Amino acid sequence: MQLDQDHSGVFNVNYLPLQGLKTELSAECWLVLFEGQVVLNDEGAGEHFLWFSLEKFQPVIKQDAIVTGYFHGKAVGVVELTTLTVEADTVSFRSLLSVSDSTIYSLISHGLQILTSRSEHAFCGCCGHQTREKEGEWAMVCPECGHHAYPRISPCVIVLVTRGDEMLLVRHHRHGKESTMHTLVAGFIEPGESAEDAVHREVFEETGLTLGKLHYCFSQSWPFPHSLMMGFHAEYKSGELILEEEELCFGGWFHRDNPPDLPPEFTIARKLVNVFI
Ligand SMILES: [Zn+2]
Repeated sequence: MQLDQDHSGVFNVNYLPLQGLKTELSAECWLVLFEGQVVLNDEGAGEHFLWFSLEKFQPVIKQDAIVTGYFHGKAVGVVELTTLTVEADTVSFRSLLSVSDSTIYSLISHGLQILTSRSEHAFCGCCGHQTREKEGEWAMVCPECGHHAYPRISPCVIVLVTRGDEMLLVRHHRHGKESTMHTLVAGFIEPGESAEDAVHREVFEETGLTLGKLHYCFSQSWPFPHSLMMGFHAEYKSGELILEEEELCFGGWFHRDNPPDLPPEFTIARKLVNVFI
């Protein structure tokens, strides 16, 4: 079975995350965001999602740029705009991801999650005082009580369940009635639970099936808004399909030679399916 192959991560040498916060002075190019959309540059130079000058945005930049990493050796800052005053196309982060390579994915995912964290932790969760950035870390720290708030990462499991040459695929209500996309069972890890326990629980809760052997395959940062998807393969053990109908509108077995409509290639769900079909 192909799923037994080694899928250990390969470090992305084109994207290097920083260990701490830097000011905009050290940024050499910028990722510009407006209302959750990426503003595309019209400078005709380099990558169309990066800007090489912020001059035209200066009056409407919400806060100093945060340098979140390097792209092909250039320090990249992330900024948010209060209004879009220049004529420029914008594109949703999700759709940009679908056409991007892993370098761009890492860069945007990291930058977006740091911005989200700063906005979610602008005030202390313990005493309500305004926080400030901690030098050298991504944390926000409370000057009043010393509480540290680090960027939230929410671990989830996603699992390809197989039975011989068949795989279990489901459809979610949240994708809409018109959607024909079939995906994998997934869910958040609960406090005190191991990732493996979460796989067994989620599959049982959503489909009524029990699992035999399972193993971890690989993971993907999923910045909507701050999940870490941990991908597993599990073998079916027993049970008949009983769907959790509040969440799922369909579940069924598909032969590996005849898959239905699947999630986009950049998603971990698709990557897990791809090594099986
Ligand atoms: Zn505090």
